[in-house]
Amino acid sequence: MKKEKKIILAIDGPAGAGKSSAGKLAAKRLGFTYLDTGAMYRAVALAVKESGVEIDEEYVSKILPHLDIELKDDKIFLNGVDISSKIRTPEMDLLASSVSRLKCVREFLGRLQRSIGEKGKVVAEGRDMGTVIFPDAAAKVFLTATPEVRAYRRLKQLKEKGVVADYDELVKQIKERDIADSTRDIAPLKPASDAMVLDSTDKDLNTVVNIIVDFSKKQFEKLEH
Ligand code: C5P
Repeated sequence: MKKEKKIILAIDGPAGAGKSSAGKLAAKRLGFTYLDTGAMYRAVALAVKESGVEIDEEYVSKILPHLDIELKDDKIFLNGVDISSKIRTPEMDLLASSVSRLKCVREFLGRLQRSIGEKGKVVAEGRDMGTVIFPDAAAKVFLTATPEVRAYRRLKQLKEKGVVADYDELVKQIKERDIADSTRDIAPLKPASDAMVLDSTDKDLNTVVNIIVDFSKKQFEKLEH
């Protein structure tokens, strides 16, 4: 039996492809809730760092039941504390990628993500939205760009926040994270077979958002017929 498609826009892709900026704007234009799943992995990474446990199934699985992760108004809260600015550092980029390999973490966050997406009208952004978490999403986009362009965008973002970073180091880290995210055993980063692959290398944000919103509307309209 064919599964019923859901009114969900799933945006997946590698680090720095512009998923967050495009996802937030697309959610606003569609009137949908924006679900930043990378922020959730970052929240777990911060909890792991602060508790000092090893990145290992046995230890991390013990702290997960004590974590209350909430996304509200473009902010993320961990046990009631706003951690939005703490999780956006190069150190947390790598730590989030490491904890995301753990099965217990993927199951824990997967449940949370599905409970938010259940009602539909969600723009869900991450690495496995269209493949694992919302395989029945009506609109799936795989957003990508060259590692060099992605590193440059990340450098700009960090600069705006007053964080000093080195371009060559960022290119290296982005390539490392691409390999780690796309070669892991569970939920590796890859386009869903029914995703629209969109290369944002030569496109500005506005163009990317227009393409995504037009594509999504067409996909959602199909559901009505
Ligand atoms: O998107 P963002 O850079 O905030 O994600 C941080 C890390 O979290 C990624 O490098 C990836 O390892 C992990 N992640 C994931 N699955 C998702 C979202 C993020 O594995 N759905």
